[in-house]
Formats: sequence, C-alpha cells, structure tokens
Amino acid sequence: MSHCLLLEGLSEIYTAQGTCADREATSVRAVRNGAILVSDGAIAKVGPREEVLAVTPADAERVDMGGKTAVPCFVDPHTHLVWGGDRSDEFNRRLHGATYVDIAKGGGGIKSTVRHTREASREDLAARAKKTLDTMLLHGVGTIEAKSGYGLDADSELKQLDVMDQLSESHPVEMHQTFLGAHEVPPEYQGNPGGYIDYLNAELLPRVAERGTVRYVDIFCEKGVFELEDSRRHMQRALDLGFQLRMHVDELFPLGGAGLAAELGAVSGDHLVHASKRDMRAMADAGTFATMLPGTSFFLRGQYADAAAFMDAGCTLALSTDYNPGSSHTVSQALMMALACMNLGMTFEQSFVGVTLNAADSLGQAHRIGSLEEGKIADIAFLDAPSAMYLVYFWGINHVTDVLKEGRFAVRNRAICY
Ligand SMILES: [Zn+2]
Repeated sequence: MSHCLLLEGLSEIYTAQGTCADREATSVRAVRNGAILVSDGAIAKVGPREEVLAVTPADAERVDMGGKTAVPCFVDPHTHLVWGGDRSDEFNRRLHGATYVDIAKGGGGIKSTVRHTREASREDLAARAKKTLDTMLLHGVGTIEAKSGYGLDADSELKQLDVMDQLSESHPVEMHQTFLGAHEVPPEYQGNPGGYIDYLNAELLPRVAERGTVRYVDIFCEKGVFELEDSRRHMQRALDLGFQLRMHVDELFPLGGAGLAAELGAVSGDHLVHASKRDMRAMADAGTFATMLPGTSFFLRGQYADAAAFMDAGCTLALSTDYNPGSSHTVSQALMMALACMNLGMTFEQSFVGVTLNAADSLGQAHRIGSLEEGKIADIAFLDAPSAMYLVYFWGINHVTDVLKEGRFAVRNRAICY
C-alpha cells in the first residue's frame, strides 16, 4: 500500500520548473491556494487545490498547512561543513580593527581551524557537523555540497570525509562530498605549494578515489596560495582519477582561475569576484556554473562579484552560503537571496532559482530535486509567510517552520522531528 499525504491550505506554492537549470529564471511560477499530494516520498500532484483533490485517494492523510507558503527545499552547493575550533573572538578582533594579516600572525585564521580540526576526535567533529546540519534543515536546506579541507594531511582529511560518510547515512540532509585537500598550504609545506600538490597527487587523491563516496575535487586557486600551474596539475590529476571539479577561483585577485575552470570543464567556478569578461564567456561556453558567494563578500566587507556581467556572458548562476568559520559563518540561503537581490543586482526570481533549481543542477540533481513538480522527490520547505517574496522582503528572518524531506516531516513547527 502506498502512503499518500495531502498538504493543503497553502497560500502559495512557489517553484521553478524543469529538470535542468533555468538560466534566465523564466520558469518560476506561483500558485495561489494550492495543494500538494505526496506519494511514497515523491510529489504525485501539485497545483490548484481542486485539481489536486480530484486525484487524491480517499484514504490519504490530510494536513492543513494553515496558510503557509511551500517552496522546494533549498540546495546549498558550496559548504565547508566539518571543522573544529571557534573563531568568534577573531571576528570581534576584526571589528576592532585587526587585519587578516594581524590575525594570521597570531596563529589565527584558517591555521587555527586546521589546528583544531587535526586535534579534534571524529566524534567531536561529527557532533558539531550534525548540529550544523540540523540548523541547515531548520532553515529549509535539504541538500548540500560539503568539502573537506581543514585537515591538510592524510589522517585529518580522511577523518573529515569519514564524518561526512557517517552523517550522509544518518542525517536527512542529502550530502554531496568534495575533497578540498588543496584549501591552503599546510605548515609542513610552508613556501612549497608545489611540493604539497605533488604529495596530494601521488598519495592522497588516489586514497580519496578509492573511497567511492567523493564526487568532486576542489582547490583554492589564488595568488600566493595555489596559482594556475599548481592548480592545473592538481585538477588534471583529479580528472584522470575520475573526479569532477569545483573550484574556488578569482576571489581576491584576478589570477585567471575562472578561465582555468572553463578550460578544465569544471562543473562550477565559485567566488569569481575578480573574474575577467573573457573568462566569463569561456565559462558560459564550457557550461561551467558561476556560483556566487555573496555571504563571503558581506562578512569580509569586500567586493561583490559582477553577477550581471556573468548573466550577460551567458553563464548560469547558482548561489551558496560558503558556510565556513572564517569568511562566511551562516547557513541561510534566504539571506544569500537577499544579498543577491541587494548587492549582486539579481532579481528575486533569479535569486530563487539560484538557491533551488540551478543549485540542484550544479550538483547534477535537477532531475530529482530543486523544484516542486510531479515525479520529483518531496523535499519541501514551508514558510510562515503569505508568499515566497517574504524570503527577501522580510529579510533576516527564518520563515521556515516545517520541512518535508523525502515525503516525511523532518521539521514540524520549527522543531527537528526526523
Ligand atoms: Zn569556500
């Protein structure tokens, strides 16, 4: 017997449509007074209430959502999920005028996260990351990409991946794993990034490939860290081992990483604050997603990426929090939508597809998730708001009260219940 769930009393159902990214954000639709029928974890029917009622079995469980708005669960395609330590004091020091260099000299910054991640037990890292996943879920996030990259040696990087394996099996948030061993040059290789890439290519990448749970390899391609030639060597080795690529590029300096991402056929180039117009066109031609991380620009009080230029060049945009302890400590995709609308010049519709359908497609999952359509998985976030516009219009608020994950409530009335 299939289990049917009818969700009614929805003031609005708001969703993009399709099984691949919506580059122009033209597929977004709002249905007023709608209903959604869920059967065996998938959406069986969605639309105006009468149409859905007409096909609803008599024995379906009916839930009155009391005038809430339904949107697809958010997808976050760039997160640094697993790490140890606490950098809140460092954040306050920045507010008091300390520079990034001051903080790094005192052993702070990413070095502090690496030190604490190396020292932390697997259990402690898992407990911390689980709490973060719960917070994501409470904010309507149903699927994430999650990176390693705070271990920078074999034991600690594999420990981070072990934690991800464990949480993939036990937590309702769907996770797509990325190896980011080349996040920073570790202390053991200070001044010798090429030597560290040699080590990663020879020793660690093959071990990561053997696990079978990691789909992507990423690198922090940046001036003074891993520059173009080291980045190309590492990414080419990853391709040879069967990985797909996501890349941190052109965040702080116009190095040309966006062009390299396009040249290598990376799935996504991320950050892109200083990408050149030529590299934007190359990314569009290569079908490389442009993933905007406006939370990082906000948190570092830096420059924002030129989203309009990427759209003009023909790129498909996704949006992400870049959740991490140093440069963007948030899980709110709604806040990223607000920043995208206010500081990237994106429309509400563009920001919405950026955190749903386009983000899903950048993870190769748009055929399953990212929109509310018949046949897709019933990953649905419910907002205590009369319309989806409130995500941005009433900003800084978590409007999500309920989350349906694969057809079951994982959050009900703002409480975790999976
Ligand atoms: Zn990042």
